[in-house]
Amino acid sequence: MANNSSEIIIPSSLLPEDGRFGCGPSKVRPEAVDALAKVGKAYLGTSHRQATVKDMVGRLRSGLRDLFNLPEGYEVILGNGGATYFWDIATFALIESKSQHLSFGEFSSKFAAASKAAPFLDEPEIIVSEPGTRPFAKVNPEIDLYALTHNETSTGVSMDIRRPEGAHGIVAVDATSAAGGLRVDPSQFDAYYFAPQKVFASDGGLWVALMSPAALERVARIAESKRWIPASFDLTICIDNSRLNQTYNTPALATIFLFVQQLEWMLDNGGLEFSTSRCDQSAKILYDWAERTEYATPYVKDPADRSHVVGTIDFSDNIDAAQVAKVLRKNGVIDVEPYRKLGRNQLRVAMFPAVEPGDIEALTNCIDFVVSRLAD
Ligand SMILES: *Cc1c(COP(=O)(O)O)cnc(C)c1O
Repeated sequence: MANNSSEIIIPSSLLPEDGRFGCGPSKVRPEAVDALAKVGKAYLGTSHRQATVKDMVGRLRSGLRDLFNLPEGYEVILGNGGATYFWDIATFALIESKSQHLSFGEFSSKFAAASKAAPFLDEPEIIVSEPGTRPFAKVNPEIDLYALTHNETSTGVSMDIRRPEGAHGIVAVDATSAAGGLRVDPSQFDAYYFAPQKVFASDGGLWVALMSPAALERVARIAESKRWIPASFDLTICIDNSRLNQTYNTPALATIFLFVQQLEWMLDNGGLEFSTSRCDQSAKILYDWAERTEYATPYVKDPADRSHVVGTIDFSDNIDAAQVAKVLRKNGVIDVEPYRKLGRNQLRVAMFPAVEPGDIEALTNCIDFVVSRLAD
């Protein structure tokens, strides 16, 4: 009954202009790659301690300040290692003694595990909710750092970032797949950290943290304490280097350049309102399609929790989502496989600002076509 899936050819009239829908590394706009090629000889292969690269880091820092409209006293800090590395940095250099973690998927559970394993910290408080939902913070006077996740990339659940009412601890937010794609009010966080291979359409290996005066003060206080901190986890060193538009050790220059390309593209087109509106548009297309399609359902039940940057769509039992993803991949429409550890019959779709909303529409048409052919 089922068609031989390797023979299914999607008509070119249905295909998206760009077939990259992965959650990271995600689609890099071709214009950014062209711009990188143009500065190849003048920028790549040059010292990161000289003006050419330092100016690029300066554009990155001031562009992020503008994009997020950072209040007085907030600083843009960066270093090498990506978001995962920042969890270890935060464990050493941001948590004073006890943290509270909202854990609702693969990524948010990892920072919780890192602080739990640290012998110099108290047992963290970990508030867990079922995958596909989100937990809520509970104010506790013993907590000195609340760890939130703006968008749980493994499940497609996002949450509004708000300081837990009455909390005296600082608020650290993993915004790796959210920063620049979801709206945020900087007065609600103290450290908003992310890596650039998602919304910022660059490559991995770098982290950025937008830090409030309270977070900067916390770092200084811990540095003065007796805690031993390895140099590459020492945030005071990161802060000192960032203020000079440098990093402690050598960064990937192409990553920084592509990051600035995407950031300035967002700013030139209207900033955070422009980039988040594109995600809203894409999300409306995807979820409306799933709601009206018999074999598809948004995985996240509460519409308020449905992410506008990462969409997860469950398929009915008679349709094998993995097979659909395989046929799509053969046709150049790639990386819509679900997060492997979630183990569901679903597709996951990145709707970052670089992705054209029209291409999300085309993707839904391609899925409909493949499903109809598989049923033939
Ligand atoms: C991708 C992702 C990470 C991991 O980022 P790396 O740069 O690979 O370390 C962490 N948190 C979230 C929410 C993510 O989406």
